[in-house]
Amino acid sequence: MQVFDKISDLRACVNDWRQDGLRTGFVPTMGALHAGHLSLVERARSENQRVSVSIFVNPTQFNNPDDLKNYPRTLEKDLELLKPLKPDVVFVPDSAEMYPEGKENAPVVKVNLNGLDQVLEGLHRPGHFKGVMQVVARLFDIHQPDRAYFGEKDYQQLAVIRKMTSELKLPIEIIGCPTTREKDGLAMSSRNQLLTSEYRQAAVAISKALFFARDNWRNYTVTDIRNHTIRLIEKSQLLKVEYVEIASSKSLEVVSEWKEQTSLRIFAAVMAGQVRLIDNVGINTAED
Ligand code: AMP
Repeated sequence: MQVFDKISDLRACVNDWRQDGLRTGFVPTMGALHAGHLSLVERARSENQRVSVSIFVNPTQFNNPDDLKNYPRTLEKDLELLKPLKPDVVFVPDSAEMYPEGKENAPVVKVNLNGLDQVLEGLHRPGHFKGVMQVVARLFDIHQPDRAYFGEKDYQQLAVIRKMTSELKLPIEIIGCPTTREKDGLAMSSRNQLLTSEYRQAAVAISKALFFARDNWRNYTVTDIRNHTIRLIEKSQLLKVEYVEIASSKSLEVVSEWKEQTSLRIFAAVMAGQVRLIDNVGINTAED
């Protein structure tokens, strides 16, 4: 496992792989790795001859400066966790390497997202997806992978990256991977490290409420299940819902009634004190 912090070193390595005709998989992360990230690396390892992982806390996708400042950074531990999974390369650039022109002047990716960035996280974190596309487009250009792996935990991000990749006609296969959860159901997240034990205990209500909606939607209207989900989460005085929405899995358009022909998901963003948590779960309306 080689660790590079310079684009030129990584490019040289990746060029060799390409010349040798090797299939490459890439897993972009912001570090503070947990079993969710590792499941992506494992999948990439099993499907490709060469695997690269990046660890970079991308400043351009944070709309809240405190969130960026407090984001956990655990590089040494991350490298220890990665070692047994045998990625070939880990790329750990700093901001100057990624944005030599300054992060404010980083090129903006202009593609038609068909409104994918106008709902859910896009509404609540202005500029977030602009930053995500900036960093992912740059990382794709540096790594030139055949396949790139993203988690359904950030379902909207996965949808935006798929669309960006197809609009830019990049020859990269985008692979979505299921959400890894703690034993009690909480979606694994780097931000979980920031929760006190009290907030950590309360946070289990988020996945519990989403699972309730997934299993009981038939007995409710969309409005009622949404309100009920919010109530279940906010039963704990420690949690404050930013949004709960039910949306099309494909277009992410928010729906107000059940649609049998459309695959749906329920999405939530919740503040647990100062820590913002998101989660989402598929609702299988087609089976009924
Ligand atoms: P992050 O470091 O939060 O930017 O995440 C890097 C990648 O790991 C993204 O594609 C995430 O969607 C994915 N990821 C984060 N948490 C999980 C999880 N609990 N299960 C599966 N994938 C995850």
